[in-house]
Amino acid sequence: MAQVVLENIDKIYPNGFHAVKQANFTIEDKEFCVLLGPSGCGKTTTLRMIAGLEEISGGRLLIDGKVVNDVEPKDRDIAFVFQNYALYPHMTVYDNMAFGLKLRKFPKDEIDRRVKDAAKILDIAHLLDRKPKQLSGGQRQRVAVGRAIVRDPKVFLFDEPLSNLDAKLRVQMRSELKKLHHRLNATIVYVTHDQVEAMTMADKIVIMKDGVIQQIGSPHEVYFKPANKFVAGFIGTPPMNFIESKIIRGDGGLWVTAEGFKVKVPKDYEDMLADYIDKDVVFGIRPENIHDKELFKGEIEGDAIIKGIVDVVEPLGSETLLHVNVGGQSLVAKVDPITKAKEGQEIELLLEMHTMHAFDKETEKAIL
Ligand code: ATP
Repeated sequence: MAQVVLENIDKIYPNGFHAVKQANFTIEDKEFCVLLGPSGCGKTTTLRMIAGLEEISGGRLLIDGKVVNDVEPKDRDIAFVFQNYALYPHMTVYDNMAFGLKLRKFPKDEIDRRVKDAAKILDIAHLLDRKPKQLSGGQRQRVAVGRAIVRDPKVFLFDEPLSNLDAKLRVQMRSELKKLHHRLNATIVYVTHDQVEAMTMADKIVIMKDGVIQQIGSPHEVYFKPANKFVAGFIGTPPMNFIESKIIRGDGGLWVTAEGFKVKVPKDYEDMLADYIDKDVVFGIRPENIHDKELFKGEIEGDAIIKGIVDVVEPLGSETLLHVNVGGQSLVAKVDPITKAKEGQEIELLLEMHTMHAFDKETEKAIL
């Protein structure tokens, strides 16, 4: 068992800066939990408090049901993998991996067995005699993970471990870390600002902004049911489109309107928007849910079509992004690369309205 519970955790740095505010969440045994948010949101501070490297200003931290606020890092049965790997440059890979076990006075043959097992799992057995400077970035990263694995800790903490790797290696290590998680059957808390990393690896994502947790949920939940405009805009690439609009009652039901923009609200969503009739809302729709009408193969609903002028065509290979000016607001559509859309020309876009989101203009909380 290795459950980690944060109860009303606060961090106020000695200079008075309130970096983490009332963090409340549970990382279940064997869960891969990702702390996600923009730079400075407090995710590393949270991780360091779990590790015991940073004092907790308020609240309780429990590991396996025991309050550990005042327990030394070395007694928390946690292994930390740092962003810069923190390998000892003068030691071989073997000694780097063995170091923690030697400190803890493990018998020599036990150390040897653990280092070799971990090296095998990570495919670095042939590198054990090398020094860190003789390794590539990806290999160093594996050694840093190896050093954590040999400890066989209750909880692994990772602080942006892939940020120093090139894009290709990052994708590879992402899937390897995920496999490793299954293989080790371990509880992992992983910090990143990269939403793709979070979406691909996490069982649970904790999204933070300015020290405050914005949403806790599965990748599916935070993508399809974002709690507020910040989460909606942070998860997904390119980000969700937002249009400052008004909800009005019109022909046959409710409509979302803005300058040069009028689309019908699906019947099922009318109840949820009932309190917002004649009020301003922020309408949201993802680029992948906006289609070039010319290319759309499904059933076309006339009340979900808008017109705009194509500002920019961005071909990405497997898809093309169209930046379209609709009544002065810019919308991005992710469309099939066979599109005939040209910059400066008018285009008709079809919106998949059942994927629409709406946010309260003041609180930015999701209405639907
Ligand atoms: P990044 O992705 O850039 O590492 P982060 O989300 O991990 O960001 P933290 O490192 O947790 O953010 O920092 C949260 C906030 O606390 C930041 O505004 C940072 O400037 C501030 N902070 C961090 N360490 C200290 C400190 N020792 N004293 C005062 N403020 C600090």
